[in-house]
Amino acid sequence: MLNSGQNFDLSNSPRHRQMSTKGARAILHLDLDAFYASVEQLDAPALHGRPVVVAGPSSRSVVCAASYEARKFGVRSAMPTVRAKKLCPGGVFVTPRFPRYEEISSRVFEIYRRFTPLVEPLSLDEAFLDVTTSESLHGPGRVIAAAVKRAVKEELGLTVSAGIADVKLAAKIASDLGKPDGLVEVPPGTTRAFLEPLPVSRLWGVGRVTEKALARLGIHRLGQLADAPEALLAGALGRGHARDLRTLARGEDPREVVADEEAKSVGAEETFEEDLVGREALLPHLLGQAERVARRLREVGKKGRTVTLKVKYADFELVTRRCTLPSATDDGHVLFQAARAQLERADLCRPVRLTGVSASGFQAGRAEQLELFEPSPDGLTAATS
Ligand SMILES: [Mg+2]
Repeated sequence: MLNSGQNFDLSNSPRHRQMSTKGARAILHLDLDAFYASVEQLDAPALHGRPVVVAGPSSRSVVCAASYEARKFGVRSAMPTVRAKKLCPGGVFVTPRFPRYEEISSRVFEIYRRFTPLVEPLSLDEAFLDVTTSESLHGPGRVIAAAVKRAVKEELGLTVSAGIADVKLAAKIASDLGKPDGLVEVPPGTTRAFLEPLPVSRLWGVGRVTEKALARLGIHRLGQLADAPEALLAGALGRGHARDLRTLARGEDPREVVADEEAKSVGAEETFEEDLVGREALLPHLLGQAERVARRLREVGKKGRTVTLKVKYADFELVTRRCTLPSATDDGHVLFQAARAQLERADLCRPVRLTGVSASGFQAGRAEQLELFEPSPDGLTAATS
């Protein structure tokens, strides 16, 4: 694992000097440091500088967040509280106050939106910002990131770590490498070299199973994954997964930042009476949600291309996973298949209190489409947006 002291200045690498940086996007990934624990320290100044552990009160509960002082004792998120107490007997253990975290989070996001409307929240403490078109007004991505950090610190007293890159993947890794209070930039055109030395586990979609499968092929670093023959990878991981991972390892990540307000979506969600654990328990709910979304889409004559799965864990951490379909749909089964695939990208070992499925990225349904689009000469319809 790399630490934040590592030097990521790759600008002297000849391979990267020759790459074009024209038209590069500027994407920030912003991640508040030890968020819940920091809010507790903020609200109770006596806790400042002390090891604070936010965890449920029951003996079966797990740690939601640990301040950096507590992390020095080895305390980590998702660790059983009992174990955390053994590691850090002098720690201050506090029960989570989610309404307060949500309130502070929305104030942080208000600050982000001063710099760009393109803010995509990932959870209460994490977001992507696309600042490409803000650069003429606010300066380069790095300058914007510094300004955001300063505003959050001055106005709310919290530190946020920032990663800046031209793709989401690299921005997210960069923010993590700099923690806490980090600001790590991956200059345009240097993404591949930035990724090369990192362990494969840094990639989204590489869990323990995939990591082991790659290790059996002698692949440990992203540079090796990027250069591996596709047939070799496909044999171990399956064709689709192999291709996706290799593409990401090469720093190719076209995913866009999708602003929250833009997501004019149709969704269905439910909070379970009891927390559910595992795929088998969750899938029937996803199916029901997908079918409700499909019915609603048909009612309003719309079809969605983007399918988003929302999973809220028992500790209230919210994750969203989305994918784009080859074509827009209002078919419940297609939506369910997409949601099910996204579920595989969530942590299925943790108890879940809520799931939701939504469709966005609308295209008009068939009747409207015929009016909106003239058939092109080869008989296909051409969508203009
Ligand atoms: Mg965080």
